[in-house]
Amino acid sequence: MKRSIIIVGGGLAGLSLGIALRERGIPVTLHDASEYPRHRVCGEFLSGVSDEVLECLGISFALEDAVPLRSSRWHDEEGPLRDMEVEGRGISRHLLDDRLQTRFRELGGALLTGSRLGAESVAAQEGVVWAAGRPKRASDWVGLKCHFRDLPLTHDLEMHVGRSGYIGLARIEEDRVNVCGLFRKRNPSGSKGVEILHHYLREIGLPDLSARLSSALPDTTSFCGVAGISFDPHDAGIFSIGDAAAMIPPFTGNGMSMALEAAFHSISPILDYVEGRIAWTEATVRNSKAASRAFGRRLRAANLLHPVITHARGTRWVRHLGMARFLPFGMIYRTLR
Ligand SMILES: Cc1cc2nc3c(=O)[nH]c(=O)nc-3n(C[C@H](O)[C@H](O)[C@H](O)COP(=O)(O)OP(=O)(O)OC[C@H]3O[C@@H](n4cnc5c(N)ncnc54)[C@H](O)[C@@H]3O)c2cc1C
Repeated sequence: MKRSIIIVGGGLAGLSLGIALRERGIPVTLHDASEYPRHRVCGEFLSGVSDEVLECLGISFALEDAVPLRSSRWHDEEGPLRDMEVEGRGISRHLLDDRLQTRFRELGGALLTGSRLGAESVAAQEGVVWAAGRPKRASDWVGLKCHFRDLPLTHDLEMHVGRSGYIGLARIEEDRVNVCGLFRKRNPSGSKGVEILHHYLREIGLPDLSARLSSALPDTTSFCGVAGISFDPHDAGIFSIGDAAAMIPPFTGNGMSMALEAAFHSISPILDYVEGRIAWTEATVRNSKAASRAFGRRLRAANLLHPVITHARGTRWVRHLGMARFLPFGMIYRTLR
């Protein structure tokens, strides 16, 4: 009889792994702290993951009608900085995660929602995959997101870099635009809901963008925020995937892809464990080695660049080089995938 697997966390990493394992006949129980469908703080710009990985995970179906995103424009406080071709897809996490959880259940996976497990009690146990997203740590950063209607974009993806934060506008389904940013924490002085987003935009020197959003229609039910975002390395020694293993700074637009790729790389050691060929400790070591090989370079590059683009002097430097066309945006984009 096959050994069974418990997955903690039903975001992209956990759900896609759950589907891949169920397609291979492995008994899986998945615990998620929340319910579906739900909005998540995410730029919803998916880029980097290959069709082969999606096929192997059994989740291509969920992205078939995602909005193709091909053009992007980077701006700073002074205006447009650089245009760049991208290769991405826009889809809300509300829709994507819901499709994945439905598929997981259809395949006979046991999904327990509203079930928050403690890392200390279960993460190190045999057969447990920790996919619970980034650990909450004290940090300077907050993430905010909201969907808008009637918001014309100049490009499929607009990135706006301010004094101590940045915000992306990406097309998603139903002619909506996802607006999502990362900001250095400040006191939002009594603002509530979408007003907090406007407050941060003005604070980081992007009042024109705030004015543009004011003439569009926010879907206030989609507004959400998170704090405690840290890019420090996470716990080694447990079988973890996705943000739970390592979080790449959001400006790369690669975190979702990394979550899916991490699920893909974890399949082989899990299969060997389930079939009794290796112990869980060996599966854990193989998983973390595969993740280091796959993600080490992009994590190092992203962590080097993040302080540059979130620091006022750094953004001025980017503007001078970017305008002079010295900055190899295309090469940086490829290195981060
Ligand atoms: C501001 C911001 C913008 C971003 N923009 C982009 C972007 O445009 N493109 C991109 O590719 N990536 C982006 N990302 C990153 C991307 O959202 C993450 O990398 C991705 O969601 C990671 O998926 P995951 O499955 O590892 O974690 P998550 O999606 O966070 O899922 C974790 C799941 O675990 C559950 N959970 C948490 N704790 C427990 C527990 N103790 N027990 C049980 N369940 C638990 C949660 O309910 C959640 O469903 C952005 C991130 C931020 C913060």
